[in-house]
Amino acid sequence: CGIVGYIGGRQAQDVLLSGLSKLEYRGYDSAGVAVGDGACIAVKKKAGKLANLSTELDGQPLSGTIGIGHTRWATHGLPNDTNAHPHATEDGKIVIIHNGIIENYLSLKEDLMTRGHEFKSETDSEVLAHLIEEAYSGNLEEAVRAALAQVRGAYGIVVTHVDHREIVAARTVSPLVMGVGEGEMFLASDVPALLAYTRNMVFLHDGDMVVLHDDGFRVTDLAGNEQQREIEHIDWDA
Ligand code: GLU
Repeated sequence: CGIVGYIGGRQAQDVLLSGLSKLEYRGYDSAGVAVGDGACIAVKKKAGKLANLSTELDGQPLSGTIGIGHTRWATHGLPNDTNAHPHATEDGKIVIIHNGIIENYLSLKEDLMTRGHEFKSETDSEVLAHLIEEAYSGNLEEAVRAALAQVRGAYGIVVTHVDHREIVAARTVSPLVMGVGEGEMFLASDVPALLAYTRNMVFLHDGDMVVLHDDGFRVTDLAGNEQQREIEHIDWDA
């Protein structure tokens, strides 16, 4: 339902929680964040209000300057802690969040299970983590592209890998907007999540894929062709 991503010099947890709070009006049943510090990616997720998650993080903040956060509106699987996003691979190296519905998730899941993948959640989204893991051989963007070529449905997906200081995202139907800062980059499912940080935004088009680094971004289509996207200045308040 709600998406926030951050890479830059700030503590990512603060940006993620603040951004997600601006998306609460959309409704959701659980929330979670993943924060990377270069050595590992820590995931914390809780059913219920964002306040539940914040309270838990207050006692034990996640330290790191790259992160992704999600508020979930369950479509497949109960609204509980396990089904909340982010979803990580078994080795914990890749984490994903997903908005929307993967229509062919059941057949993908069955195939993945016959190839030895073990699923933790009941969500359609978790297949994305396993497909990316399977396709990964050193290049995260290419792995996400290969995974998305296998899925049908609607998605805003945001991915990060512990070995890469980058965030890879893509959208089909579900909206994604990027915030362009100085030495930092943001991502969200809607503008209000980012207004406290930047007013320079790039609205991703249907079928866009983007790689965010601390100091820039690159947009391609799902086939890998470079796309030009304008930075727009937002002068209205949410
Ligand atoms: N279909 C996914 C799930 O049920 C994502 C739902 C959403 O957009 O929040 O976990």
